[in-house]
Parts: sequence; C-alpha cells; structure tokens
Amino acid sequence: MPAKSTRKKKTHTVKKTVKTVKRNTKATAVSPDPVATDIKAVKPVTEVKPAAKKVETKAEVKPAAKKAEIKVDAKPAEKKVETKSEAKPAAKKAETKVEAKPAEKKVETKAEAKPAAKKAETKVEAKPTEKKSETKVEAKPAAKKVETKAEAKPAAKKAETKVEAKPAEKKSETKAEAKPAAKKVETKAEAKPAAKKAETKVEAKPAEKKVEAKVEAKPVEEKKEEPVKELPQPRRSVAFIGSECYPFVKTGGLGDVMYALPKELAKQNCDVKVILPRYACIPEKYQEKMVYRGSFDMNLCSDGRSFYVGIMEYVWDGVVYDFIDNQEFFTNGNPYTNLIDDIPKFCYFSKAALAALNYMDWEPDVIHCHDWQAALVPVYLDTMFKDTPIGGAKTVLTIHNLRFQGIYDKKMISYWTGLPDYVFNKDALTVKWLDANMLKGGLTYADAITTVSGTYAWEIQTPEYGEDLDAHLRYHSGKLRGIVNGIDYDIWNPATDPRLANNYDLGNVLTEKRKNKKALQEELGLEVDDGKFVIGLVSRLTNQKGLDLVNEILPQLIDGNTQVVILGTGDAQYEDSFRYYENAYRGQVCSNIMYDETRAHHIYAGADALLVPSRFEPCGLTQLIAMHYGDIPIVRETGGLKDTVEPYNEYTNWGNGFTFDRYESGLLLDAVNRAKTLYFTNRWCWDEMVQRNMDKDVSWESSARQYRDLYVDLTR
Ligand code: ADP
Repeated sequence: MPAKSTRKKKTHTVKKTVKTVKRNTKATAVSPDPVATDIKAVKPVTEVKPAAKKVETKAEVKPAAKKAEIKVDAKPAEKKVETKSEAKPAAKKAETKVEAKPAEKKVETKAEAKPAAKKAETKVEAKPTEKKSETKVEAKPAAKKVETKAEAKPAAKKAETKVEAKPAEKKSETKAEAKPAAKKVETKAEAKPAAKKAETKVEAKPAEKKVEAKVEAKPVEEKKEEPVKELPQPRRSVAFIGSECYPFVKTGGLGDVMYALPKELAKQNCDVKVILPRYACIPEKYQEKMVYRGSFDMNLCSDGRSFYVGIMEYVWDGVVYDFIDNQEFFTNGNPYTNLIDDIPKFCYFSKAALAALNYMDWEPDVIHCHDWQAALVPVYLDTMFKDTPIGGAKTVLTIHNLRFQGIYDKKMISYWTGLPDYVFNKDALTVKWLDANMLKGGLTYADAITTVSGTYAWEIQTPEYGEDLDAHLRYHSGKLRGIVNGIDYDIWNPATDPRLANNYDLGNVLTEKRKNKKALQEELGLEVDDGKFVIGLVSRLTNQKGLDLVNEILPQLIDGNTQVVILGTGDAQYEDSFRYYENAYRGQVCSNIMYDETRAHHIYAGADALLVPSRFEPCGLTQLIAMHYGDIPIVRETGGLKDTVEPYNEYTNWGNGFTFDRYESGLLLDAVNRAKTLYFTNRWCWDEMVQRNMDKDVSWESSARQYRDLYVDLTR
C-alpha cells in the first residue's frame, strides 16, 4: 500500500506533529523509566572546614570543553531551554578546597590522592555539541553530603556538576590524623577539548582530631594536572540508523543493541546520535518528551514525488535520539507489517535519515546502519548524498540477522528510492534478475560490514547459513568482521533489577535465587517446589529458534522433577503446540504466549536453565542474560551461542553451559539430560557453574571498544 501523499496532506501532518498529538500508543516493548532529559549546570559551593589539613582540588574545564557549545539548531522551534542557577553550563571551572587545620599541628597528608581520611573526587567531562559535561567533586570527611546541581538544557546538551562532601560522623567535622602540619595537597583535574573526562580523588583521613573541612567549588587557577581517568582518544561522532530501539520500540535483539551500544559508546568518547522512525506505537510517555527539531520536504521517488520529513528529538543518557516523523509511513501499531508497506517505508526512512543529518548540520565521522531497513543508507550516501555536507562520512553496516534482506520487485524499489539505474546491476542491488535486495546493496556500498559474532561472520559465508548471499559476502569478506553483542547491566542486573521478587548477587545467589524460583512458580501456577529443575525459554516463536526440536522432546522432559516455562509470540504452529503442552502437563509446563518484559525478567531470575536450541543464531542475547542471572544455558553450537557458551567439561569441571552441535532433537534431549544429571547428582559443581556464569563479563564494554576501534580505523 504505497503511501499517498499530497502537499496539502503534508501540511496537515506537520500541524499534527507539532502538537505532538496523542495517538494510539500500543507499545511493542515495555520499558523502565528513562527520564531526565533535563540538563543541569551547577554552581557547586560547599564548605566544610576541617582543621589541620589543606587539600585543594581543582577541576577545570578548559576552553574547548568550557564553551557550553550548545549548538542550538537553526530551527529549535519548540525547543526547551532551561537553565537553573547562576552557574553557566559549560564554561565553568570548579574548584574544591578541603582544608584541615591541625588541632595540634601535626597533620599527615598522603600526598597523591589519599591524604588521610578525606576524599575528594573530581570528575570533569565536557562534550561539545550535544554532549554532556559533568563535574563531580566529592569530599568525604565526616557525615555530610552536599550536592549542587545546575542544569542548562539546550537541545541536546548536558552539563552537570556535582559537589559532594561526605564527612564521617558529623557535619563539618573531620577526624584528622595528626600528621605533617598543614600540608597542602592539590589536585587538579582538567577536561580538555571535546569531552575529555578527568577524575581525581583526594582522600583525607581525619583520625584523631575533629577538624573543620572546607570544601569549595569555584573557578580558580589550575595548579596541577592529574587526570585519573582518560577517555579513549580520538573522539568520533557516529550516527546510528536503525528501525527499532529499546525502550521506544523493540521486537528483538536489534532493539537492545540500538539502545545499549550507543550508550556505551558515549561513555567511550563517541558523540552519538540515534536516528529512528517515529512510530505511532512508541509509548506516549516518550512521545510527549520529544521536542520538535525542524521539518522539510524531501524528494523521494523517481517521478519527483516528495514527502514531509519531521525531526523530533529526545535526549537521554548522553545520547541524542532523533525520530523521523511522517504519519503516512509510521502510523501502524507495529514497526513491521508486510513487505508491500515496509519497502517504501524503509526506502523513505533511509533517505530521510541522511537528509535530516544535513538539515541538522551534523556531520558524523561514521554512519552506522543496521539490518536491511537501513541498508540503503550507504547506497544513498555514495550516490545522491556524495556531494552534500555528510558525503565524506564512512559507513558501517551491521547484520543482525541475514535472513531478513528487504527483497522486492526491482521496479518498485527503483521507483521508491529514486536511485540511479547503475546501482541496480547484478553485483549491487539486483538478485535473480527481476528483484532488488536492499541488504545486498548496503553490503556492496558500506565501507565496513559487521555482524554480531565471529562464528556467524564465518557461517554466513557458507551456503548453509548464507541465505543466498554467501557468495556476495565471500566477495566482500575483506571488510567483514564479527563483534559479539553484550547486555546492558543497567537493565539486566539481578542485584538491582526492580522487577524481581528477590534481588541477588554473586555472593548470595545460591540462597536467594531459589526465592525467585518459588515466586515464578506461584505467578505461573506451577507446582511450588524449589527442588524442581526449571527450564526457561524466552524467544520469538519462529523456526529460527529451534522450536521444532523442543516440540519433539517436550514430553520426554517432563519427568515429575522438571518444569518448563515458555515465553514468546510468533508463528501460530508453535504458539498452538506450546498451548497444547501446557494443557497436557498442567502444573509442569506453562506457556506464556505474549510479549512481556517483566515476565521475561522473572523467568531469567527464577529458572535453573535456559534453552536456546537455535537453527542459527547471529548472536543471541537470551543466553547472555541467562548467565548473568545465574542460569545455565543449554544451547546449540551455532553463531554467537558457540562464541559465548563454553561447553561444560565434567573432567575439568569448567564451562558455562550444555551444548550440542547438529540440529537434531536427540542431541538436544541429550544436552538437557546432561544438565539435569549434574543438577540432581552434583549440585556443588552446578552451583560453581552458576557463580562462574554470573561472574562472566557479558557487558557491552569490550564490544563497544571494538566498534570504536573500527570507527577510528575507518576514519584515520
Ligand atoms: P532475536 O533478536 O533473534 O529475537 P535475541 O536473543 O538476540 O533474539 O534477543 C531477544 C530479546 O528479546 C531478549 O532481550 C529477550 O529477553 C527478548 N524477548 C524475546 N521474546 C520476548 C517476549 N516474548 N517477551 C519479552 N521479551 C522477549
């Protein structure tokens, strides 16, 4: 259903947009509570006066970092700019002085950063355009805490300063160790150009004496430079372009990655902007926080037909989200419907995302696009946008799932993209003579291709996993690499997860996790008994996920000591068969045919093992989440499952889970039985594996570093 558009219609659309009209907000994903688009700037002034000691800490933001560099777009139309306090966002210097005056004179100061019992911490971050600068000054003498924040919130920028003083027992009192008389310790942390982060800790340990501490934060001359934590250099700006992103809209792992990776990259000195469609199904609580950034008309089709492009902006956690607004394309309750609608929708989106970057005058070093929905971005960039301001950007295309490629009639794609004929040759977009393949075009034109695990990067070059693009991928293998996904510890952390009945960590998992198992059994109407072996399965119910194998062996899993909990939606054949099993094995099998984030958290926390027997699995996040929640994954050795789950070896008592190789139900059953055997006969080794899994680093940190290195390599 090609969208019909006339100019009149567009004008109407604009009005609606500006008003941020309430619309159908059926959410595809449940989300926590992001918030804080507010930006604060501070004037930290805290005074604590110890006695015999003088500790001075300065944090200074230098010129580049100082400029509040709040580059408000040419059309900030309805942008909210909010400034509290006299402090001026970026251009601020913060100084902290901690003085201790020897009651009896001798005051010892352990120079560097740990004088006595006092702690001062200074963090300074400054990021230019649409960035965050943060200054923290902490002094912990007695029992006091002073925190000042001032925020200025222009479009996409954040400046934050915190000053904390935490005396030990009393306000303005510090126990000072009578040591070297009135020594002065001075520390300075300096944030230099663009978004450098510096952190300095100064601790003073007041011991025998009560002293007064004075902590001040104010602009001063710098005296000593001692950056504690350097951000990786050089800084790079990256535009993420993709079709879904948690918590706005998520149907699978792509949504997780689009949320977590930019956030981690922002911590690693990348300036990140995420460009998404503004679907009507994005929950109202996010829609209403979006700020109108501007709009324009864009030629799209080969006959010159043009469409409205609105830009709505939302800033959160150091990342700027720009939503492409056009209600003709994005009104459906689900981001994906059918190819007839989806092809024009994502042709439009890919071009509009690039046009929006030019409109916002934001020239990224790298444009990182994801899956077929954004795969035309490198094609557009190398053709119609070559001579525009963003034309010099490098492109990275990440394949999250090769199965979905955006293949449709060549004539229709040619019409909707308006791309020149030469890109439709057989080595670029064309497949099987009459069709065009959007993903293939992206793979051809991208400067680098990544996929989400090393094994999958190799597998997709074989006919078995290549989805008819294996030869094309082999041809482009020189620019292809695999980088395994991570999980976001802010969301997936059993110690802090607000959705759990009982929080637990590595230290108490063995006693506390079983309480979550009982809570899960109660919630789902299963027999409540923490001695049962509970197997979870959280998945889209499609044939990618190995569910035919599960169907074949499910009756054999149920033995009176085992329970199976399924959560998912998808193909009717699987939904129906799992419903059948729930009826057949009441109290032992529970099939939750739904999409429910909270229930997913409950299952990860309550299950002993998690099944992921996928036919193919580019990376897989559920096994990572499971390990972090102390579950033992039972997986097929493919793609990211192979890269992240080391098979348990009973002789060395080492490994993370139980695995099988060929896609056969007998081998899956065997793997589950090996898991059960260990669980029921050697709990000590099982428990060790639980703790080993929780301890395993499955965060985004190292993966994000690899992406960063790739960006730097491409833009040297
Ligand atoms: P894929 O991207 O192929 O769907 P992944 O394992 O990469 O698979 O990511 C799946 C993500 O979606 C995980 O975060 C998982 O918890 C979540 N998920 C899958 N199905 C459901 C569901 N029915 N309800 C809630 N979350 C789900």
